[in-house]
Amino acid sequence: MVRVTGDQALVKKINKSIILHTIRKYSPLSRAKVSEMTGLNKATVSNLVAELCAQELVTEAGPGESSGGRKPLILHFNAMAGSVIGVELRVKQLTAVLCDLGGRILQEQECSLESHQLPYVLEAMTKLISALIAAAPATPYGIVGIGVGVPGMVDEHGVVLFAPNLGWETVDLRALLEAEFAVPVTIDNEANAGALGELNFGAARDVRHLLYVSAGSGIGSGIIIEGELYKGARGYAGETGHMSIEAEGKPCSCGSQGCWELYASEKTYDTPALPLPARTTPELVAHAAAGEPNTLSHFNTMGEYLGIGVTNLINSFNPQLIVIGGALSEAEAWLGEPLRSVVAKRTLPYHKQELEITFSKLGSRGTVIGAGFSAVMHFLGHIRVTL
Ligand SMILES: [Zn+2]
Repeated sequence: MVRVTGDQALVKKINKSIILHTIRKYSPLSRAKVSEMTGLNKATVSNLVAELCAQELVTEAGPGESSGGRKPLILHFNAMAGSVIGVELRVKQLTAVLCDLGGRILQEQECSLESHQLPYVLEAMTKLISALIAAAPATPYGIVGIGVGVPGMVDEHGVVLFAPNLGWETVDLRALLEAEFAVPVTIDNEANAGALGELNFGAARDVRHLLYVSAGSGIGSGIIIEGELYKGARGYAGETGHMSIEAEGKPCSCGSQGCWELYASEKTYDTPALPLPARTTPELVAHAAAGEPNTLSHFNTMGEYLGIGVTNLINSFNPQLIVIGGALSEAEAWLGEPLRSVVAKRTLPYHKQELEITFSKLGSRGTVIGAGFSAVMHFLGHIRVTL
């Protein structure tokens, strides 16, 4: 009888996870290519791939290119092994998607929010999620998890500690949703979820140093350093919307004043004195497209203020790529030029080298897709290892 020690089991688990994530990210791949990419020997790869095939997480299909001899079978990640629900809670809107394990949206549902009372929001969330669960295709694992992106600070237990734009403090959202649906739930700050969405499915694949700026009802940033999400000492990093950009500026709901999001997010629409023809981004985008002068002027000012905050972030973090996501990414045509021109004028010259600023390829869906991705990673038992 072979006795497996704890260490052997752990090593096997780590190797299996490395193989699974290599296939998930880069398939189609042959076993030989997996062995080459992971540095694991062919026997180990074959054994663990056989386990992954038996678990229906990996499938093999027709022969691939051969360099002579028998043609190899090609491995694929089985994105249809299960499905996940991604949810984004915004100040005025709730969006939920049903995704396969590869981040492909199968169905989408949304509703507007009239209040931020917890029972009301929970009921709306439950309704959307239930509808998507009912629509889910039959898969080996079924619904493997629910991921939620929220506009606020979240601790490691899925408790929303503070969401000033919702008026929420210490809401144990994970426990509430797990009690309702009996599947694992992950709760992320919406900007962190958006950064993960971009990194895995959007504009930032294979980027090592990324700043994802989510600009919508407020501003938050997802910070990726060395390919990993940076959360800070307690998990609250990225509250960039509350960095002061005006020393004697307007008072903010966070208790400070002159915060960035008061000048460069949808919060600017609330200023009654502004002669705007509408107060939501989709409506203003339509007005801007029709050339309405007040909207054009307002988007130009917002773009400049976005540029000021982005400059501060570039000078602090020296990223390779900045992605602007969130609801305001739909206004790229009018925000992009003033933003880039302020950054070009103000950023330190060395930081500008090889820096790219782009708007989200996932549009306003980056967060729901990223929230679903967190649930996928939880299901696949993501293990951090340094290769
Ligand atoms: Zn603030």
